[in-house]
Amino acid sequence: MDILIKEFMAKIESRNAHEPEFLQAVQEVAESIIPFIEANPKYKKHKILERIAEPERVISFRVPWMNDAGEIEINRGYRVQMNSAIGPYKGGLRFHPSVNQSILKFLAFEQVFKNSLTGLPMGGGKGGSDFDPKGKSDNEVMKFCQSFMTELYRHIHADIDIPAGDIGVGAREIGFLFGQYKRIQGEFTGVLTGKAAEYGGSLIRPEATGYGVVYFAEEMLKTRGESISGKTVVVSGSGNVAQYAVEKCIQVGAKVVTMSDSSGFIHDPAGIDTAKLAYIMELKNVRRGRIEEYAKKYGCDYFEGEKPWKIKCDIALPNATQNELDAPDALLLVQNGCFCIAEGANMPCTLEAVRIFDAARVLYAPGKASNAGGVAVSGLEMSQNSLRISWTRDEVDSRLRQIMHQIHEACVRNGRVDGDFVDYTRGANISGFIKVAEAMIAQGIV
Ligand code: GLU
Repeated sequence: MDILIKEFMAKIESRNAHEPEFLQAVQEVAESIIPFIEANPKYKKHKILERIAEPERVISFRVPWMNDAGEIEINRGYRVQMNSAIGPYKGGLRFHPSVNQSILKFLAFEQVFKNSLTGLPMGGGKGGSDFDPKGKSDNEVMKFCQSFMTELYRHIHADIDIPAGDIGVGAREIGFLFGQYKRIQGEFTGVLTGKAAEYGGSLIRPEATGYGVVYFAEEMLKTRGESISGKTVVVSGSGNVAQYAVEKCIQVGAKVVTMSDSSGFIHDPAGIDTAKLAYIMELKNVRRGRIEEYAKKYGCDYFEGEKPWKIKCDIALPNATQNELDAPDALLLVQNGCFCIAEGANMPCTLEAVRIFDAARVLYAPGKASNAGGVAVSGLEMSQNSLRISWTRDEVDSRLRQIMHQIHEACVRNGRVDGDFVDYTRGANISGFIKVAEAMIAQGIV
């Protein structure tokens, strides 16, 4: 089996040299899907995995705009339209200086499996730009978004490709992007999700990814007769996903002791409560300041340039970005008694870190399963837009819970290995793969 995986990866590597994040994402999927394909040869004959690993389309474009000083700036914009077998392309936009084709192809590839897992009719895509919103004025962000959409609009549509947010793209950016799309196209449709509630956004969409991660962790813990209540949780990140994961942890009675940003992390052994979280939301979403300020305000420790994985905990929620948790971090977590890791970010754990979690037989969920709540509620936003109605918070929240429950069931169904241990990566990959593969076979060689 190892040889088959190596042969497959050699082909992918020769075609995607210099795209390490994309290769990492494909490797992880290949390790669980190739044995499955060997047991189910029809997928082999149709070359489904080979086809899924090649984007249907990659669009790259120039984004010129003028900054507040009157200088012209040039960024690069992208949209990776990965797979449309089960629905229109769906996935977020990331604005961050690290964005390149490798990062967006890995994210789009993950999105195909994640969207399939939600059970909703959404294909996979991802886009973004190397634009850095940090330190930019609202006016500069608007100018950039308008220029970005002036090219992107011709590639998207409510029935073709529906972008949303990701790192660096929140309610402010979605508003500017939507305004420009509407102005150019002259139509008010659900072409973007993550909109504000006033103009077609879904209630619970801002909360969905973070809440979903905690709902998924609860499901995992239930398999061992445990619950989140009373547990100590280490969280990385302080953006949208981290904020609402912490909010849900507080609601269910867990103690969150860390949060972080790209400069360092804070350790608050007393736990982040509702008032402290409100401070972080204001700090990060309104003032756009650094997490270090929290340590000064509440008199706790701040670790400059470090990650929170050395702090003792029961549960770890990596909610910041890809490859933020490596093998030494994983070892530390396991040695310190952490027994449940649910990814809120996309691919935050390296392949080596995941191998350590699996060997230790702890509960580990890949982002494509545990963070699927965000895109799931995006799917619900699309349904509400099409129906021209809006559901209540309770309605959306209960659908979100139900979807996270179903994703967990699917992971258990296809991921159970030796006895009771569930390999959630394998379960998520196989469950996501089957639906896309069947649709591709039905649609012929396209
Ligand atoms: N960027 C999010 C993700 O990684 C959400 C995408 C969406 O809502 O379309 O799944």
